[in-house]
Amino acid sequence: MPQVQTARGPVASSGLGPTLMHEHIFILTADVQQNYPEEWGDEDARVADAVRQLRALAAAGITTIVDVTVLGQGRFIPRIQRVAEQVPELNIVVATGCYTFDDVPLFFSRRTPRMEARLGRPARDVMADFFVRDITEGIAGTGVRAGMLKCAVDEKGLTRGVERVLRAVCRAHVLTGTPITIHTHAASQHGPAILEVLGDEGADLSRVVLGHSGDVTQPDYLESMASAGLILGMDRFGIDHFASFAERADLVMELCRRGLADHMVLSHDYSCYLDWFPPGALDDLRDWHYLHVSHDVLPYLRNHGVTQDQLDAMLVRTPARILGG
Ligand SMILES: [Zn+2]
Repeated sequence: MPQVQTARGPVASSGLGPTLMHEHIFILTADVQQNYPEEWGDEDARVADAVRQLRALAAAGITTIVDVTVLGQGRFIPRIQRVAEQVPELNIVVATGCYTFDDVPLFFSRRTPRMEARLGRPARDVMADFFVRDITEGIAGTGVRAGMLKCAVDEKGLTRGVERVLRAVCRAHVLTGTPITIHTHAASQHGPAILEVLGDEGADLSRVVLGHSGDVTQPDYLESMASAGLILGMDRFGIDHFASFAERADLVMELCRRGLADHMVLSHDYSCYLDWFPPGALDDLRDWHYLHVSHDVLPYLRNHGVTQDQLDAMLVRTPARILGG
């Protein structure tokens, strides 16, 4: 029975149930928050707010989320453990990886295999080593092991830094069998370039999610990516800035019509706290919360001819297969 690592330990992949494959709980800029903590405010209140929102999600029938918060997004596992302990009805899978659209964080920029060799040590990539350690030993002494790898290929495409992270993620994936999710800029159609690197590194494409695929209505491009073997992340429901509710939902329907229900996963890319915007700046996104898929998207898809079997594929079977291997 394949096991999936969560913030409370391993669970059987067959028991994950309805799963949102790309969510966050807290996204923050750690060193700014350490020095200017007034907006974050009370730690207990932030945790309580997340617990309240995630209990409501579980009550709506979702039993697993993947929190794809990694380096560059303020990942802090002890806080996630505090939340997870108070929502025992929800599995929280955590991730490892690095979120950058351009350069690697300065910590890594000179910690290269070439530098290691110059210093007379084995020519290893410390970044890939960190990812593997998060998966095999656990994160920062918490004992919580990552169940997902994550990187980003945004509008700028495969810059040197982005390609280094993507290859490090691929190496950790090949060594450990952990799946990958990739933030992409859908309009730029970087899928073919990403596929080249994935192929080069020997990745199992059926366990790689091409994230944010629903941000632009381009079904032919997405069909070609799914035909190549990738899973499409229709994972930003509620972010109307890029695509409206109807555009996102109709795209899922069209891809179902093309026989691709088993090549899609659903999510919101929501976060209870996100410090990349000032307070109030995202208030116009009224549907951007954990319950939008359950309350609005699924009924809309059902009413427009998407079958329960297709919904089960997107919410249960494909997530279990990706996460469990
Ligand atoms: Zn995200």
